[in-house]
Amino acid sequence: MLGIDLGTTRSVVAFVNAKGEPETIRNREGEFTTPSVVLFEEDCVSVGKEALKAVATVPEKVARFAKREMGKDEYPIKFGDQCYSPELIQAAILERLRLDAEARLGCTLRKAVISVPAYFDEPKRRATIDAGLLAGLKVEAIINEPTAAALAFGLESKPYGSGVDPIGGQPCTVLVYDLGGGTFDVSVVALDGTQFVVKATDGNARLGGMDWDKCLATWLDDQFAASHACRPSTTLVGQSMLMRESEEIKHALSARNQCKVRIAFDGFQLRTEITRTKFEELSAHLLDRTRFTVRHLLKGNAIAWDAIDRIILVGGSTRMPQVRELLQRESGKEPEFTVSADEAVAHGAAIYAASLNEVESEDEKKTQIRVTDVNAHDLGVLGYDRETKRRCNHVMIKRNTSLPASNVSRFETIRENQRSVAVEVVEGGDKRGKSSARIGKCLIDDLPANLPLGTPVDVLFRYESDGLITVKASLPAAGRQANLTIDRAVPGSGDKFNKMKDIYAALGLQEDD
Ligand code: AMP
Repeated sequence: MLGIDLGTTRSVVAFVNAKGEPETIRNREGEFTTPSVVLFEEDCVSVGKEALKAVATVPEKVARFAKREMGKDEYPIKFGDQCYSPELIQAAILERLRLDAEARLGCTLRKAVISVPAYFDEPKRRATIDAGLLAGLKVEAIINEPTAAALAFGLESKPYGSGVDPIGGQPCTVLVYDLGGGTFDVSVVALDGTQFVVKATDGNARLGGMDWDKCLATWLDDQFAASHACRPSTTLVGQSMLMRESEEIKHALSARNQCKVRIAFDGFQLRTEITRTKFEELSAHLLDRTRFTVRHLLKGNAIAWDAIDRIILVGGSTRMPQVRELLQRESGKEPEFTVSADEAVAHGAAIYAASLNEVESEDEKKTQIRVTDVNAHDLGVLGYDRETKRRCNHVMIKRNTSLPASNVSRFETIRENQRSVAVEVVEGGDKRGKSSARIGKCLIDDLPANLPLGTPVDVLFRYESDGLITVKASLPAAGRQANLTIDRAVPGSGDKFNKMKDIYAALGLQEDD
């Protein structure tokens, strides 16, 4: 089974080899990571390095950062006349990863564990499962990225760093700070042998390295405009040049204190210099957002820095010295790159995938990996406050509850002979539910006739271990389950999925079963 880190900017695939160790599978170019980029040309669809190169010349044909759009109906750019859903773009990437892995390992691979940001809400998780299904993969489980990194940290000490077991067999509590290309997560995880218990998690599904690139791109654009009478940001080609150059400058500034800038656009050239201090000044508000999230997580869950034994850095953006310095200042401890910033999540996903195999002997059961995660968002229902008569979000399962978790909410009929009750389920968001993700409307219908006013209807909400949600309703007075329809399909079914499947098949990417 594959472990897949489907990243915003690049993706990694791993498996557990015959020696029981996680191993990254190189792609067809022989590289460990594949750019999460898709090029839509008239007659073919390419993924990876070739698609990334095309950003310079035909940016209007290239889809990038689709992970950030997950949960939305459409990717914001049209290709030709065609709109694609973000999961369809993710599917093209996943299929390319699967085909490359099959070619490397010489066998058919149809099962995977895919990692997602801990802060992904339920619709984004479902969209990821749909993307896997479109790509011909059975998604056996979804694992949170920082949890996967903690698995790699706890179980895979030797390939990295000094070769010393990082936790010396002792229980320890780690804070995983995971800043990737497009998302940020922070989790506190207690490790004890093969037991991994996530204590709390927080994050931002729209904060990552690309936001640091955007800060630099705006600065470059302003510098260009100050020297010449034009702004590269006014064209698509100019924008992609600015983002490309910005990422390179950012990487250079991780290694050096200053960096020369030479960019050309529309026959004009800009030559200047930028220091790391200036870059940090331009992006200070972004780093601050991660600081706020870390503080909020620790304070909200009454965790003191003293209770954290190790700080683990994961994700390419943690290579920026400002990240290490921030965590040092906050905690008084030295953060560490004990695991590979690029591979840890895929390795953790592969370890988790291998752990899903049935074990038979008692010895194996004792050492079986156990992961307990938490939900990153409150789960609630929309209702009305009896006193204020204003719309409000009744939280049913609070964020950072150990999963699986369930809660029963009692609703009452508000009329004589009421035949149905509608409940809107939401995740996260504010007290009024305005910024909440709509999980679905469930309709409890076909209630028996002549029920008195105030008849209780119990609705059971359950967060599964992987953050997916199930809802059941019952009618205790009538001693039966209530008929419940939730207006969304299970992953891999429904009109939207079937439509995507047809569009995807027409792209010519899909292999026959
Ligand atoms: P990931 O999603 O973990 O692959 O992280 C990708 C992000 O890491 C991208 O925004 C990269 O620009 C960023 N990144 C990779 N290497 C470096 C580096 N040396 N310095 C700063 N950012 C980096």
